[in-house]
Parts: sequence; structure tokens; C-alpha cells
Amino acid sequence: MSNELNRGNGVSPPPVSQVAQGGRISALLKQTKKLERLNTWFKIALNNMVRGLSMFDADQRLIVCNESYREMYGLPEELTRPGTPLADILSYHIKKETGRDGEEERTRQDQWLKNHAAKLASGNSFTRTQNLSGGRTFLVMYQPIAGGGWVDVQEDITEKRWAEEKVEWLARHDPLTGIANRFYFRESFEDALKIIVQGPAVVLHWIDLDRFKDVNDTLGHPVGDALLKAVAERLRSSVRKADFLARLGGDEFAIIQMGAGRREQCEHLARRVMHVLSKPFHILGHTVSLSASIGIVRAPEHGTTADELMKRADIALYDVKSSGRNGFAIFRSGTKHKPGLKHQLDRDLRSAVRNGQLKLHYQPIINLKTGHVSSCEALVRWEHPQHGTAMPDNFLPLAEQSGQMLEIGSWVLNEACRDAARWPDDLKVTVNLSSLQFQNGDLLNVVDKALADANIKPSRLELEIAEAALLSDGECMREVLPKLRERGIGTSLDDFGRASGSLSYLRNFPFDKIKIDRSYIRDQLDRKDRAAIVNAVTALARTLGIGTVAEGVETLGELKCVEIAGCDEVQGYYFSDAVPKGELMAVLSECEQKLWAAA
Ligand code: C2E
Ligand code: CA
Ligand code: CA
Repeated sequence: MSNELNRGNGVSPPPVSQVAQGGRISALLKQTKKLERLNTWFKIALNNMVRGLSMFDADQRLIVCNESYREMYGLPEELTRPGTPLADILSYHIKKETGRDGEEERTRQDQWLKNHAAKLASGNSFTRTQNLSGGRTFLVMYQPIAGGGWVDVQEDITEKRWAEEKVEWLARHDPLTGIANRFYFRESFEDALKIIVQGPAVVLHWIDLDRFKDVNDTLGHPVGDALLKAVAERLRSSVRKADFLARLGGDEFAIIQMGAGRREQCEHLARRVMHVLSKPFHILGHTVSLSASIGIVRAPEHGTTADELMKRADIALYDVKSSGRNGFAIFRSGTKHKPGLKHQLDRDLRSAVRNGQLKLHYQPIINLKTGHVSSCEALVRWEHPQHGTAMPDNFLPLAEQSGQMLEIGSWVLNEACRDAARWPDDLKVTVNLSSLQFQNGDLLNVVDKALADANIKPSRLELEIAEAALLSDGECMREVLPKLRERGIGTSLDDFGRASGSLSYLRNFPFDKIKIDRSYIRDQLDRKDRAAIVNAVTALARTLGIGTVAEGVETLGELKCVEIAGCDEVQGYYFSDAVPKGELMAVLSECEQKLWAAA
């Protein structure tokens, strides 16, 4: 029916061959469309890649590249068209990076292209790192393709690289001051020592700031930190490029001085360091004065290994510290001085103050006339993390020798006043002073500040000075004692009788009290001579208007004796040992009960 209709319309059907051709065209069209679509997808994919991509043919002409590639190298549009020679891209890039396109640049470029072709010829993929002038770093991976040419992929690794470098930098530097840390110092020192066998001398300056801790304590950590930065800066300006500066930790620095063949050269640097550090620092509105102690060793003269030299620099430093600081010392070969455990303890002690390992215990002093505890004596303890609790006789002499007594003394004063602020108003606090605190000349300020900070009346503080200190520092005492008295601060002559027992002290120095040494109190009942001395001292003190304290009272018998002799106050194990501050209040009433029971 339809055929007829068609025929009736006079339209004849197309020949078979024509039908086949039309089918091919539509298939081709379809395929082209498909390819176009694919091409579009491919372009979208390429241009959305974060990494740069480009493809070159065997003649080093661009086949295709993506947007990221163009952007990464900042290429103009005409250099990203297919067919662009790599050489054109390269010369554009070199000019952009260097600002030049002379003969030299062209030679470099030719060399690069030749090299590149040779690498591709191997057929293996390879990578290159490119450092661009703006500080960016690209990692480029080249993949040769069959029949010549290659594909390359560029990754911007600037951030990654920066992070890696930062981690590496932090491993070798002190973040506060920006100079080398202990680890990097050690590595560099060992490297320097490798070349000294026949070569020039290497000198190590071990620098320790004097009383840096005081700055931290009185002005606070931000000032301490800023001061360390300023110190590092001054040290940096005092060394030559060839020298190596490091912060070994805390307030310790080191300089490796290269090629200081003569002794004067290393002395010269040490003097310069002391000089630059001695000028006042202006830190966050404060003016801070510093000094430094420096221990010096020379290699190979004093050793050839880092360990040996560092130990000896430490010995030299210790020599400076124990002879009053603020100076330098070159290690003396054959010195008998062996710091060993002592020096170790000295170092530990410094960190003890910093790390809060010092604690105050208190021992009550009982007034026999009133029947009450009148004061508590602060006795310092060192809670050493390895050796347990150390008693003052075991570490204070060391502190005096190595120059840490002032720091400890100030800490004790402050802490004791703060503790007393929490006690009843009629209870005093008694603090022991070292003779070094008198010599320092700053004692009155330290005392005033401790009282003011704790907000307690001067009359609540009693200071004890050992009799032995009068022998060496009588003059200082004569000056300071009246000033303490003016302020209403009580003073006691401690350990009376242990050093000389000279009664003339009682007449010549204005003490409020005298503490009779415990060796006189012991065995009072059996040793009539001791009892006689106690009686004589008490009688003289009474006529001079000076109070008396018997220390080291261990038994009821001893208590009776000192009571009969007329002592005003007593202290000793019979009542209580020195106890941690948390236990003190309970102990106070126990002491008073014991006294009533003894009556
Ligand atoms: P000190 O001033 O004579 O203190 C009394 C010492 O005798 C304390 O020893 C105390 O625990 C001990 N003691 C108390 N009652 C008795 C007793 O009944 N019998 C015996 N045998 N001993 C008793 P500690 O705490 O070992 O102190 C020793 C010395 O260390 C003190 O002697 C004092 O000279 C010094 N010291 C303690 N703390 C400080 C301080 O903060 N600064 C200064 N500069 N020296 C301190
Ligand atoms: Ca004492
Ligand atoms: Ca004493």
C-alpha cells in the first residue's frame, strides 16, 4: 500500500549505494560528535588539574598544555598554542626569571635542551626540581612517550618544601633566639674537630650568664626571654662569619672560634663577649645589667674529642663561677680540680631553684615565759629527684661556693614571708642569712621587697646570722644591723659558742637575741661546764637586754636545765622537728601542750 502510494506520488527510492553512503556520513558525524565531546571532557579535565601538564612531540614542539601549566610559568597565550617550540617557552621563562636574554643565557638554554633530549632518549621517566626566583619550587616529572616526545607534570611543592625546611630548621635551632641549638652545636663542634689534626686550632667558649635567674624571677619570663634574644643578638655581632654560635639551653651559650692559633686571639674574643654583654640592656621598659662567666678550651691543646673538651670547658667555667663570676678562664692542663659529682650537683642545684625543688620546713620556737610558740624557723630542704631530700648542710656550702647562695637566700626570704602572711598575726617567721647576703650590699632591698610583697609587718620577721659570719664580716654587720633594727626587724646571733663564744660580740653588735648553740645544751645534766656556760651567757644577755634562745633541746632534762638557767625561748626535737608547712599549724598546739605537760 505504501509502495503504491509512493509510486503514485512519482517519488522514486534512492539507489542502494547512496543509502550506504548516507549511513556512513551519519556514523562519521556521530563519531565526530563523540570525539568532540570527548575532547571537551578531556579539556575540562586537563584544565581542572591542579598540577601543570604539557605534552611535546619528538621535535620538542608543544602538542598540548593545560591552564595550570600556563599559570605556573606565567606564559602568554601565544606560547601555549600547539606547535610552539619548547625553546621559545624556555627563553621566555629564562628572561622572565633572570631579566636577561644575552649570549650566556642562550648558551645555557642550548645546553639544557641538549641535556634534556639525552635524558629522554634513555626512555625512562625522571624528575627535576626547579627553584624559581620568587621563592617557589616546582617538582617536574618527565615521562617519555613511544615514538619520541614526552609528557611532563609539574607540581608546586613550595609549601611542602617550606614545611620540611621548617622542621629541619627547628631540629637544629633554638626557636627563641634563632641561633643553633645544642644538637647542631655538637655536630658542628665534632666537624670542626675533624680538621684540626694538622690544621688550625679550634677554641670553645662556654658562656654562662651570671644571675640570669634573678631577672626571670624579678621581672618575669617575658623580660627573661627578650633578654636572651638580645644576648644572642649581641653575641652574633661579636663573632666572625667563620665562628659558630649556639644556645646550649637556659642561659648557656657557646662559641666555636675557628683558627684562633694564639692565646691572645681567644682572650680577645672572650673580652669582647664580656664587653658587649656588660652594656645595659633595655628590655620592655626595663634596664637590665648582666655579666657573664666564660670557660675556654683550645683544641688540640686541651683535647681532641668533643666530650673531653666540653668537660674541660665546664671545669674552666666552674673555676670562674667559684672565684666570683664575671670573668673568663682558659682551662689549665693538669689542674687538680675535679668537678665530678660536685659540679653535677651544682648544675642540679641551679635547676632546683628554677624547678621549685627547694622547700621550706618550719621548726617552732617556744617562748617559755608566755607558753606560746613565738616564731617558726624556716629551714630549707632540697627535694632532689634522684637523691631524695637533701639537708641544708649538704648543699648550702656548695651554693655559697658556686655563687648561688644569693639566689637561694632571696628565694627563702620571699617564700618565708609569703608563708607567714597566712599565719596568725602574733606568730613570727625566722630566716637564716648567709654572710654572703650581707656582703652583697643589696640585703636591705631584698628584705624590704620580701616584706612588701607578702604584705607583713617588719616586726614579724626575725633574721639569724651565724656567729662565724661575724669573724669575717664584722664590718658589714655593723653597718646593716642598725638598719634592720630601725625597721623593727628582729636579729639573732645564731650558733653562739660554736665558732668562738666570745662574749664581746654581745657587747659590740646590736643583736636582739642570741641563740646558744646546741652543743652547749646537750648533756646539760652530766656536763656541769656546759651548764655553767649557759648560765653565764644567759646572765650577761639579760643585763645587756638581749633575749636568749636555747636550740637543740631534745629531752625534758635539757628543757629543765635551760629553764633554770633563765633562757627565754627554746627550740628542739623535744617539741618538734622542722615540719613541712602543711603540718605546721597542728604542730603548734602540740608544742604548747608539751610545755604545759612539762611544767
Ligand atoms: P641552724 O640555724 O642551727 O638550724 C637548726 C638546725 O638544727 C636545723 O638543721 C634543725 O633541724 C636542727 N635541729 C633542730 N632541733 C634539733 C635538736 O633538738 N637536735 C639536733 N641535733 N638538731 C636539731 P637543718 O635544718 O639541717 O639546718 C642546718 C643548718 O642549715 C641551719 O642550722 C642553718 O645554719 C642552715 N640553714 C638552713 N636553712 C637555711 C636557709 O634558708 N638559709 C641559710 N643561710 N641557712 C640555712
Ligand atoms: Ca638558725
Ligand atoms: Ca643554730
